[in-house]
Amino acid sequence: MHTLILRAPLQGWVCALEETPDPVFAGRMLGDGVAIDPTGGVLHAPCDGEVIHLAPTGHAVSLRAANGAEVLMHIGVETVALAGEGFVVHVAAGQRVSAGERLISFDMDVVARRARCLMTPIIITNGEKFAIVRRLADQLAAVGDELMVLEAIGADAVAAPSGPEREVRLELVVTLAHGIHARPAALIAAEAKRFLARMTLAAGDRQANAASPVAVMAMGVRGGETLLLTATGVDAAAAVAAVAALIEHGIKEAPPAAIPAPPVAPVSDGPGIRGVAAAPGLAIGAAVRLAEPEVSVSEAFAGDAAETAALHAALSAVSARLRAQADSGGAAHRSIMAAHAAFLDDPELVGAAHEAILGGASAGVAWRGAVRGYVAVLQGLDDPLMAERADDLRDLERQVLLELSGETAPARALPDNAILLADDLLPSQLAALDASRIVGLCTAKGGPTSHVAILAAAMNVPAVVAAGPRVLVIEDGALLILDGDAGVLTVGPSGAEIEAAQGALATRQARRAEAQASAQTPARTADGTRIEVFANLGAVADAAPAVAAGAEGCGLLRTEFLFLDRQSAPSEDEQAAQYQAIAAALDGRPLIIRTLDVGGDKPVAYLPIPAEENPALGLRGVRIGLWRPEILETQLRAILRVSPRGQCRIMIPMVSSVSELTRVREVLDAVRLRMGVAEPVELGVMIETPAAAITADLIAAEADFLSIGTNDLAQYALAMDRGNPALAAQVDALHPAVLRLIGEAARGGALHGRLVAVCGALASDLAAAPILIGLGVTELSASPAAVAELKALIRTLTMDACRDLAARALAQSSAVAVRALTLSPIGAAS
Ligand code: PEP
Ligand code: MG
Repeated sequence: MHTLILRAPLQGWVCALEETPDPVFAGRMLGDGVAIDPTGGVLHAPCDGEVIHLAPTGHAVSLRAANGAEVLMHIGVETVALAGEGFVVHVAAGQRVSAGERLISFDMDVVARRARCLMTPIIITNGEKFAIVRRLADQLAAVGDELMVLEAIGADAVAAPSGPEREVRLELVVTLAHGIHARPAALIAAEAKRFLARMTLAAGDRQANAASPVAVMAMGVRGGETLLLTATGVDAAAAVAAVAALIEHGIKEAPPAAIPAPPVAPVSDGPGIRGVAAAPGLAIGAAVRLAEPEVSVSEAFAGDAAETAALHAALSAVSARLRAQADSGGAAHRSIMAAHAAFLDDPELVGAAHEAILGGASAGVAWRGAVRGYVAVLQGLDDPLMAERADDLRDLERQVLLELSGETAPARALPDNAILLADDLLPSQLAALDASRIVGLCTAKGGPTSHVAILAAAMNVPAVVAAGPRVLVIEDGALLILDGDAGVLTVGPSGAEIEAAQGALATRQARRAEAQASAQTPARTADGTRIEVFANLGAVADAAPAVAAGAEGCGLLRTEFLFLDRQSAPSEDEQAAQYQAIAAALDGRPLIIRTLDVGGDKPVAYLPIPAEENPALGLRGVRIGLWRPEILETQLRAILRVSPRGQCRIMIPMVSSVSELTRVREVLDAVRLRMGVAEPVELGVMIETPAAAITADLIAAEADFLSIGTNDLAQYALAMDRGNPALAAQVDALHPAVLRLIGEAARGGALHGRLVAVCGALASDLAAAPILIGLGVTELSASPAAVAELKALIRTLTMDACRDLAARALAQSSAVAVRALTLSPIGAAS
């Protein structure tokens, strides 16, 4: 059969491929064909054939006809970004279909609103074997009308049905200063996975499957190295373009986490062991040595199928447990567990284990070998950050092996006031221990940015890491003082040292206990001005501790935690359930939900933001919501579903002019109308740009409340990247320039009787609170840990003293001078 008639798979206007607004299609990079601007939402098979590719997101499908012609149908342009929303697939890869059979249905409304356009290219991807001898052009077609007629070129078209796969290569220089670390590797893999094409990255003699975060990370690509991207498959060109754009412009690392404070070698004289401070605080307690027991690994081989099934069952059990832990933990916990779950899904890691099984290894031996192969590579990179990611892999090795062996992680009974000592500690080991008995931890190895250090800080457990092997010879039960601020572990301290530490601890504890005792009482200054103290939250698990600490509500819910580290945006139902759970945990207290604040240093894989020279000054915050209104609308609908109505208020990030507020209010009103919500909803604005602070009077005329984001306000006012470690000490929001902007914002809010809050990190700073109150701020939204002490502090202040301090602060010439001012006692109530 050398002639093939392709029937119109869609109803719509047929036009030339050049009219597709995408150079990949218009330039025939994938092959020749036509495009259809659809007027119907069902894609049908244009001929009998076999489904050879089906995009996981349902927006594209390829068929191979009996004569070998391969036909790609790509619904709309840039529809991969919809991540499957609006598409329903009716067939499976490998399935045989008949001409006219339904392949994919799509919601034209949803796709048209979210994609660049609906124009659907119908392309012959192995065009070197077929000539299009007739094609329809510039006319309306009904499904089944003759669309194109193909003639095979040469006699072997039938014998060799699948032509050579199209290969696209591109070389680029990696400009990421820190090279391709864990986070860029994860973003690259997520991007590569969105395409059908298979892509490899190569640098020198190292090579990796781009869809494998572990393999990409293990290449150890450094800034300045040349990287070769090679992709094969129907959408190879688009895949290469997308990954290249991501590497060149789409990734901004968060370097502060990367401060590898050089591990200090343990001092050999005296009882103090010096390590690296990893979580702040002071602890006196008894040494508890934690050894990591070897997990037994069965070598018995029960056949390929049984071992593969056992490995898959173990991987899914661990993955499900990690996801459950992520849901029940705070924001830090959540992102660590999600990252671990992504490793379990890594195609190279799982693929290497499969290969070993096919070679006769048991599931356990295969998994251990696969993980250890990568651990060795990561440790060999001579990079402290990568060595920490190797710890994450070791943790997963252990969890999967435990699952396979049917053993449960041995529960360790801890004494009170335990200071954990270990060679290294894995996140899952720490999470499994009774946190109420742990007062500190110290490891011989590890680093300050390891996940275990982040977890310790989130659990309020002081920690010292990289303290060297002396930690491992400390007797169980020995008395220890651990200073998580200085990074020192004192073994067998002297009487004087114990006394000094006890004194410091007692003062801290007394202050905390006193603050906690009155935490549930509203805070008023000594002269009667009411100051509300709210908490900033990132996940449902953060809410209960915040309420227990005395938070009167949530002044900032960072909803981006729901959106990051995933392949597609959370659905309306998923968001509504999360917001509802947080509202319920707050038990009627107000919940201020900030609309999505991604972009800048928080990229999301499924929202490809066009390459930007300056992402911090680009599409971020409210600009994303106005650029992709469907994301904003979905989020607003989810918020409006929370009951009781009125508990939630909405807050917009990164506003720079009133018009942005006006546009969001229009969207909100339209959504309300469609949902039949009659009551107005409070809509506030974050003051995070100098423009917003200076025009706060104009914004306050339209906004229901203002909340100052001092983190970004300091970054933009001082023109200093808040994530640049070299500037970390200088990006201090107590800089008089920032304080003057805060004063302006407070004045603008007061002019219209609007509440003015601060929800940036300055609100958690006890030294800053009197100044903020003196500038006119009446609500502080702080980290939950700071709430009780803030309330206690407020009760000691008088407004006159605060105003006087604020006036003096505004007249200082530097943040250092302002901090010096805050050291002298002010307006203490007698
Ligand atoms: C801020 O910028 O101060 C703020 C609260 O927002 P985020 O830190 O989430 O950017
Ligand atoms: Mg901000």
